[in-house]
Amino acid sequence: MTTLHDHPVLTALDAEWRTRAACRDNSGEAFFPIGNPDWTSERDLDRAETAKQICRSCPAAVRAACLADALQAEDRWAIRGGTTPPERRGRR
Ligand code: SF4
Repeated sequence: MTTLHDHPVLTALDAEWRTRAACRDNSGEAFFPIGNPDWTSERDLDRAETAKQICRSCPAAVRAACLADALQAEDRWAIRGGTTPPERRGRR
């Protein structure tokens, strides 16, 4: 099964925290938009809420590391650290 943490950007990182990720055994589908990366369609908003619920169950340190990685990698697609890419804009 492919998960969010099989994402090429993530697997390239030295990231022990990934082994403790709440989404580790999740399919990862909810973490990516169906269409474009603006996350504004009704279906994508539903997906985002599902992914954010999983993120809320993630250990705080893991969530912080995940968000930092997303900002560093300029991930423009996935829900990371409980945020969508549009929500991360301006935080880089
Ligand atoms: S914060 Fe969300 S995307 Fe990041 S590791 Fe945790 S569950 Fe996965």
